[in-house]
Amino acid sequence: MTDDPDVELEARLAEQDSFEPPEEFVEQANVSDEAIYEEFEENWPQSWERAAELLDWESEWDEVLDEEDAPFYEWFVNGELNAAYNCVDRHVENGRKNQAAIKWEGELGETRTYTYQDLYREVNEFAAALRDLGVEEDDVVTLYMPMIPELPIAMLACARIGAPHSVVFAGFSADALATRMNSADSEYLVTCDGYYRRGDALNHKEKADKGLRGVDHEVENVVVVDRLGDELTHFLGEKYRDYDDLVDAHDGDRVEPVTRDAEDMLFLMYTSGTTGEPKGVKHTTGGYLSYCAWTSRAVLDIEPEDTYWCSADIGWITGHSYIVYGPLALGTTTMMYEGTPDYPEKDRLWEIVEKNAVDIFYTAPTAIRAFMKWGEDWPASRDLSSLRLLGTVGEPINPRAWKWYYKHIGDESCPVVDTWWQTETGGMMVTTLPGVNEMKPGSAGPALPGIDAKVIHPDKEEVEPGQAGHLTIQKPWPGMLRTLYDNDERFVSEYWEEYSEPDEDEWIYFPEDGAKVDEDDYITVLGRVDDVLNVSGHRLGTMEIESAAVGVPGVAEAAVVGGDHEVKGEAVYVYAITEEGTEGDERLRERVVESIEDAIGPIARPEEVIFTPELPKTRSGKIMRRLLEEIANGEELGDTSTLRNPEIVDEIQKQVGGD
Ligand code: ATP
Ligand code: MG
Repeated sequence: MTDDPDVELEARLAEQDSFEPPEEFVEQANVSDEAIYEEFEENWPQSWERAAELLDWESEWDEVLDEEDAPFYEWFVNGELNAAYNCVDRHVENGRKNQAAIKWEGELGETRTYTYQDLYREVNEFAAALRDLGVEEDDVVTLYMPMIPELPIAMLACARIGAPHSVVFAGFSADALATRMNSADSEYLVTCDGYYRRGDALNHKEKADKGLRGVDHEVENVVVVDRLGDELTHFLGEKYRDYDDLVDAHDGDRVEPVTRDAEDMLFLMYTSGTTGEPKGVKHTTGGYLSYCAWTSRAVLDIEPEDTYWCSADIGWITGHSYIVYGPLALGTTTMMYEGTPDYPEKDRLWEIVEKNAVDIFYTAPTAIRAFMKWGEDWPASRDLSSLRLLGTVGEPINPRAWKWYYKHIGDESCPVVDTWWQTETGGMMVTTLPGVNEMKPGSAGPALPGIDAKVIHPDKEEVEPGQAGHLTIQKPWPGMLRTLYDNDERFVSEYWEEYSEPDEDEWIYFPEDGAKVDEDDYITVLGRVDDVLNVSGHRLGTMEIESAAVGVPGVAEAAVVGGDHEVKGEAVYVYAITEEGTEGDERLRERVVESIEDAIGPIARPEEVIFTPELPKTRSGKIMRRLLEEIANGEELGDTSTLRNPEIVDEIQKQVGGD
C-alpha cells in the first residue's frame, strides 16, 4: 500500500511479539544461565555478596544486610572501601594503565582520550586541589557542568577525598542551581565558562553567577573549567579559581584514597522533578557501587575490553551509574559526547559508533523516537556492525520504537534491554538479562535476580496476569537510596507509607509507577500512577493512549493529558510531534483519533489533537505532562526551572490558543 520501508518493517515485525536473544550473544554473555534467579532467591541476602565481590574492599563487611532500623537499611555492614580507588587505581595496578578509560568527543569534533593512568593523574591532582581549597570529608561539592571530561574527573576526585558530590544538570536554570546548593548546604561549586550547543558557544558561567546570587550561605570557592578557550581572567573574581591553574599547581601530587564506610554517602542527586519538587536522593559508597558494577556486568554485559557508550547526560542518574561508576568500576572504556545528536547532521551518534567501534549502546526512548522521526537512512549510512547490545531507559518504550531500534540500529542481531529503574533505586531493577531471557517489546521484563518486584492492588494482593496495579519492591536491595537528604520523614512518607505495616515490621517500597504483569512475570510499566485521567468516570492511563497515538506511522511522539471538561470531567488532549515529511497532514489527525478509539474505545476519543514541533522535556527526556495540562486548561504555569527546552512552552501555548 506504500513504499515507506518503515511500514514494511511494521508489516514484517508487527506480528512478532517476542524475540529470542541471538545465539552468538548468549555464547559470550557474562550471564547466560537462568539458574541465577534461583541462586539469588535461595541464598538471599547473602547472594548479594556476588555484587560486592566485584569491588576491592579495604576491610570486608561483617554482615550483608542490617534490617534492624528498616526502612533505613544498611548493606555490607562495616565494610570499608573507596569508590575512586575501585574505578581508577586498581585498574592501573592490574596492568591496564594504558587502556582507555574515558573517550570524549566534543560537539565541534575535537576528541580526548584518558587512559586509566591519565585518569589516575587527573583525579589525584584535582583531589589535591580540592583539599587545598578547604574541602573536607563529608562536605558536599556541587558540580554544575556539561558533558566534559572534567565532570567525571571532579566526581572521582570528590569520591577520593570522601566529599559527596551533587551534580546539577548544566541545562538547568540558575534558580535550580541555587535551590540545590541551599538544600545541600553546599559551599563549593565546580562549573565552567561555557559549552557548545548546535555549534554555538553557550555562556554557562553567567548562569552559575546568577545562581550563586541565590545561595543563602557563604560559598567559599568556585572552580571554573575553561571549556571555550577564552581568557577566563576577565570574569574571575576573588573566590573564583581557574581549574587549569589549580591542577598545574598540584602537578604530580598524589592523594591517598580516603577510607569510607560502606554506608558513607557517595553522592546526592536530585530527581527530575517531573511530578513536583525534586527530592535529594542519598546514595552510599558500598551498596550503590556494588549494585552499579553488578548490573553493568549482568545487564549491559560490559567487559573491560569493550567500548561502551551511554548517551545520557551525567547530570541524570543514568549518567552517574552507567557512564561513570558502573563502567569504570568494571574497568571498561566509557564514551562521552558533549553535544546534540543532530549536529552537524542527524547521523552524529552513528558516526561516533562507527568511528569508535562501539560495542554497547544505551539511550532513552525519547532519543529513539527522534531517530525514527529523522528516518532510517541516517543510521544506514554508517557501519554499526560493532554493536553487540542495545539498551533503553527513562520511559516505557512503545513496541514500534523498540522494533525500529532492534532493526535499524541493532540489525536484528543485538538484544535490546528495556531497563526500568529510578534515581532512587540507584540502578536497574526490572529488565531482561540479555543472555538469558526472551524479549517482549513494550514490556521491560522480569525483575532482576534478587529483586522482589510485585504488582499489587490497593489491598496488597497481587494482580492477575494482564491486570494493572501498582508496582512495588518488597525486599531491600544494595543500590537503594538510604534517605532523602536531611529529610528522613519525607523519605518514609514518600516511598514507604503507602503499603508498609510498620507495626508488623513489614516494609514495601512504592516507586509510584503503575504496571501490568503477564503469565511469565514480565512487567510492563505503565507510567506514573498519577498520570491517569478520569473521563466520564472511566480511568484511562495516559501511557496507553500515547502508545496508540505513536503506533500511527507518521507520529513520532505523543503526550496525552487531561483538560477540564464540563460534561466528561476530564477530556483527552493529545499533543503530537510528526515525523519528517508528514507535517500539516490533516488525515494524520484523523488517524490518531481512530487509532486511539480502536485501541481503547470511543470513551478515549481525543477532544483535540495538537501538532507541535517539540514537547516540554526534562533532562532525561521525560515529557512534563503537568505543564501541558496547565496549557490545555489555560492555567498559570508552574515551575519550569527543570525544563531542558523552556522556549517551547510559548510556542505550544500559541498553537493551542490559535487552534
Ligand atoms: P520526580 O520523581 O522528581 O518526578 P522522575 O521520576 O522523572 O522525577 P527519574 O528518577 O529520572 O526522575 O525517573 C524515574 C522514572 O522514569 C520511573 O519512576 C519511571 O516512571 C520512568 N522509567 C524509567 N525507566 C523506565 C522504563 N524502562 N520503562 C518505563 N518507565 C521508566
Ligand atoms: Mg520519580
